[in-house]
Amino acid sequence: MLQEVHVGHKALADYQSMVARPLVEEIRDLAEGLKGLRVLHVNATSFGGGVAEILYTLVPLLRDAGIDTDWRVIMAAQEFYEATKIMHNALQGNPTSLNRAQQEIFEEQSRITSETLGSGFDFVFVHDPQPLLLRHFTGDLGAKWVWRCHIDTSSPHPDLARYLLPFIELYDTAIFSMEQYIFDGLKIPTRVFMPAIDPLSTKNMALSPEDADYVVSQFGVDPEPPLMLQVSRFDPWKDPLGVIDAYRMVKKEFAAVKLALVGSMATDDPEGWTFFTQTVEHAGDDSDVLILSNLNNVGNLEVNAFQSRADVVIQKSIKEGFGLTVSEALWKVKPTVGGNVGGIPSQIQDGQTGFLVDSADECAERCMWILDHPAEARAIGRAGKDYVRTHFLMPRLLRDYLRLLTDLKG
Ligand code: UDP
Repeated sequence: MLQEVHVGHKALADYQSMVARPLVEEIRDLAEGLKGLRVLHVNATSFGGGVAEILYTLVPLLRDAGIDTDWRVIMAAQEFYEATKIMHNALQGNPTSLNRAQQEIFEEQSRITSETLGSGFDFVFVHDPQPLLLRHFTGDLGAKWVWRCHIDTSSPHPDLARYLLPFIELYDTAIFSMEQYIFDGLKIPTRVFMPAIDPLSTKNMALSPEDADYVVSQFGVDPEPPLMLQVSRFDPWKDPLGVIDAYRMVKKEFAAVKLALVGSMATDDPEGWTFFTQTVEHAGDDSDVLILSNLNNVGNLEVNAFQSRADVVIQKSIKEGFGLTVSEALWKVKPTVGGNVGGIPSQIQDGQTGFLVDSADECAERCMWILDHPAEARAIGRAGKDYVRTHFLMPRLLRDYLRLLTDLKG
């Protein structure tokens, strides 16, 4: 079935002072021609991961623009999520793809879900591969359909790409986060939208250093020693084990350093627990490594506090569709070290707005440089914040969606 997600109220007017005036004016002009449209967003989870993060802001801002927007998530059997996680991994280049039995589970659960979609929409936005087959099972329902792919599909498993392409090509348009993620041979129109963060959300709003220290201290983190941080789902692509390796190298030079790994368990990620356990085992009995998840009550405010408090933020991914956590850290003026993959280099220009690394060794080296050069590192963090302000704040993404709606509306 599909379950409605309730979102709060947000208004474009509140973002006006943070973004350029022509952008706000363009949004208002575009919205004039779109009032009253009915739009549905569908994805796999309302909790954990970047897609939910974006929709919690995008949906209320579309409503504020006068567009009647709903957001629903798939609620399916566990075997569906097991299949879609294999698919997610294979789309990011893993050598194991779906076998026929798993395809059948995917298809059958999608068919059952499609029966609860309803009708009366002008546009349906389907996020990521999990709900992809809805369009196939419902037909177009008189709506325009857009598939929004958030993951790095630059080298998808070829069998899986062959299996999915006919389903994708039922859509009117597909959106990717980077040009190089567009599937080879895809015959429908495509667009590239880079994701964005909400500077006014609880996760990104300004926190005073005292408040950040207070929140972080509740998890037993001493406010004094240098703190290294990675915020990520427990997923091998995010390489938390590599982060622990890098931390150990830093620890040899900076004995007081601590590491916090903060990772939520998304409801659509059955692998999360296994990998969480592996991460805990890799950390061993080092009491300076703190591993936290939403089960420790780490919500948006706590993530904000950890990011605001950290001396170095790491996102050492080995595949990364975009990596919202990078922009979140840069927005908080944090010296940030990111894996040189996927969407991270579009946020970090190496040595200017942060650092890009290809290994745990390089990651450790950059972290040590940052801890040794706090003033220079802070200047790099400031440049990062400026870059995020002009490229990765939500009003720009709202504008991208409104332009697409305007073009497709015809
Ligand atoms: N996140 C969170 N709590 C956690 C781990 C992650 O709130 O414990 C958030 C993180 O702040 C970011 C999003 O989940 O907003 C992850 O998005 P990203 O694009 O970095 O990665 P994804 O999970 O979509 O692959």
